[in-house]
Order: sequence, then structure tokens, then C-alpha cells
Amino acid sequence: MVTDTPPRKSDLDAFRESDRITTLDIPKNAVLPEFAKAIESAMKAQQTQKVRTACAGFLSAASQFYDVPECTVRVLASRPLRVREHWTTELFGDYAPDTKVIRVWMRTAVRKEITSFGTFLSTLCHEFCHHLDFQEFAFADSWHTRGFYERAAVLYHHARGTPQKRLVWAAMAGGRWRIDWPKTNRRSA
Ligand SMILES: [Zn+2]
Repeated sequence: MVTDTPPRKSDLDAFRESDRITTLDIPKNAVLPEFAKAIESAMKAQQTQKVRTACAGFLSAASQFYDVPECTVRVLASRPLRVREHWTTELFGDYAPDTKVIRVWMRTAVRKEITSFGTFLSTLCHEFCHHLDFQEFAFADSWHTRGFYERAAVLYHHARGTPQKRLVWAAMAGGRWRIDWPKTNRRSA
């Protein structure tokens, strides 16, 4: 995972704010983990309609908790040809801010391999965090900052019931960052 290049000056303050917000409140109850379990069993049974229903329930519960307008979800069998161009890292899902539609797909484009549950849930949380960026934080755009990835990870680990990892970042050229996975994994081991 790599962060976006910092934007031009007018958006830089919002970008830096997104970078700084590294945590997210999470529900005290188990509603999100329960929907996540429903997604997992529906995926195992390869019941797309049930996957869709469970994803919709997950997003609806999350939207209620964060007190933001609801978003719609489309669960697709495989990756569409057209994906939001400037978010080129989106391998398994995307989000359209104007229509508030999240799309997630169950198969990768090229080899038609089925997406693993962990990747699928992580994508759903990632796309929901784009929704939050617009609706909760009212950013003009939703950048992949270090803070964005941290917030998405908080939501994912809560939903999955796994311990939160503190991400370790390594600087790259052009003001970008990448996750140093060996160090991140060593720290949380
Ligand atoms: Zn994204």
C-alpha cells in the first residue's frame, strides 16, 4: 500500500488533516463483526445475493454509527473494465462520491481468482472510509494518506475481530509513503 502524491496547494491542508487522523471511533457492540461473519459464510457458500445483503447490512450499520448518509453497494461477480481512473490502486472495489455507490467484486480481473474473505472485507472497509472522508470529514477529495489507511485498518480489525496493527511507514520520493510490512508485522508479533 502506497500513499497518494500530495495534491496542489489548495487541497494541501485537507490532505495533511487526512494524514494526521489516524484513528476512528468504533461501535462498542458486535454489529459489524456479526455482519462480517455473515459475509464470510455467504462467500464460502458462493451465494452472491447473500453476500450483497450482508454487505448492505454492514454498510447500513456503519453509516448509522457514524451518523452519515447511507451508501449503496453493488457486489459484482468480477472486476469491471472501467474503474475510477485516478484511484489506480483499487484492485477489488471502488467508490463514487457523487452517487455514494460502493462497488466490490468477488473475482480478480485477469486470472478470475476468487477474492479472499480478508481482502474482500478489507476492501469494503477501505471504500466505506472513502465515503466517510466525504460525508463525515467533508474533505473535497478522499486521498490515500497514511491516516486514511490507518482508519481503514481500525475499521477492518474491529470488524474481523483481529488485533490492531500499528503500521510502520517508509518514506518514498515525492512525499509518498509505503507500508513497511516486515517491520509492521515484527512490531505486532
Ligand atoms: Zn481507495
